[in-house]
Amino acid sequence: MAIGERVLMGPGPSNVYPEVTAALARPVLGHLDPEFLFLLEETCERLRAVFRTANRLTLPVSGTGSAGMEAALVNVVHAGDVVVVGVNGLFGERMAEVAARQGAEVVRVEAPWGEPLDPEALLRAHPSPAVIALVHAETSTGVRNDVAAVCLGKGEALVVADTVTSLGGVELEVDGWGVDIAYSGTQKCLGVPPGLAPLTMGERAWARRLERPASWYLDLGLVAGYVTGAGGRTYHHTAPVSMVFALHAGLGVLLQEGLEQSWHRHLGCGQMLQDGLQAMGLELLAPEGHRLPQLTTVRVPEDLPPHSGEAEVRRVLLERYGIEIGGGVGSLAGKVWRIGCMGHTARRANVTLLLAALAEVLGR
Ligand code: PLP
Repeated sequence: MAIGERVLMGPGPSNVYPEVTAALARPVLGHLDPEFLFLLEETCERLRAVFRTANRLTLPVSGTGSAGMEAALVNVVHAGDVVVVGVNGLFGERMAEVAARQGAEVVRVEAPWGEPLDPEALLRAHPSPAVIALVHAETSTGVRNDVAAVCLGKGEALVVADTVTSLGGVELEVDGWGVDIAYSGTQKCLGVPPGLAPLTMGERAWARRLERPASWYLDLGLVAGYVTGAGGRTYHHTAPVSMVFALHAGLGVLLQEGLEQSWHRHLGCGQMLQDGLQAMGLELLAPEGHRLPQLTTVRVPEDLPPHSGEAEVRRVLLERYGIEIGGGVGSLAGKVWRIGCMGHTARRANVTLLLAALAEVLGR
């Protein structure tokens, strides 16, 4: 099968919008070319619309989602700060590790993988944390955590939200909820290849940022000078020009559809997929009310066809039907499949194809 014929329904990159592919093929401009800088500014403006924020500091960090995570934490976590971290999956675990490497006193608030975090437990974990950090859409489990509820009770703490898998796919209101820093990735519900980390930081967080964060590259005080042109644009690093073209185009498609319309499309596809899997007799991992429409975790059934492990099912889906789905990670390895329905992939036709293919492979 030729590259490009896959339907990407894993937890990794989603298929990209055709307009994004076209943008990637554009002739490259210099990173200080006025035309590129105009496009970069428009990209930041589009990100404000998608994050639902007026934050001046809203930009694509050069790097994948993990660079967004590092940038968020390295700029506001001072050594010795108490950072409460919600851990109910791989990416909450990663936030705890990144905060610990900044010298934070990390207070972990855990929930079993597959269960949502308890917002009250996060708020009660410490009387005066500097930061409360949590993942909005936990890609390792398909669970949605209640960021809005945590923001409501945050007091003096800054809330840092990982929105890698939620941005553009489900409701997120950075200003409306009071999220202080949110970061994301391009490869999920934005329908753009991996490579940039959209990030937004509000005034409260900006006021508390470190003078000299441990990372020079991710020092948002320096990055902002280049990307937003604050105080006169100065060279900081060579922006990945073609990736900015791609993000600009992907956000254009999303905003033309309408942000709420995109949330609605993801919800409809996720519901159709989850109903179809259950009708096939399969069991979903995440509890109702906390399931992500864009990332569904389904338990691997015990009665797989003879000589067929769960990896074999994924291999056949890929080789016979060109559909990629993901396996479980961490404590869920071998126990679940993770099926994405994100960005350009979130189409009813893809869901129909996957359900039919899976039914055939499983003999159901
Ligand atoms: N956070 C979440 C919720 C993710 O799903 C991912 C990646 O899948 C990351 C962070 C890390 O992003 P990246 O792999 O782009 O560095």
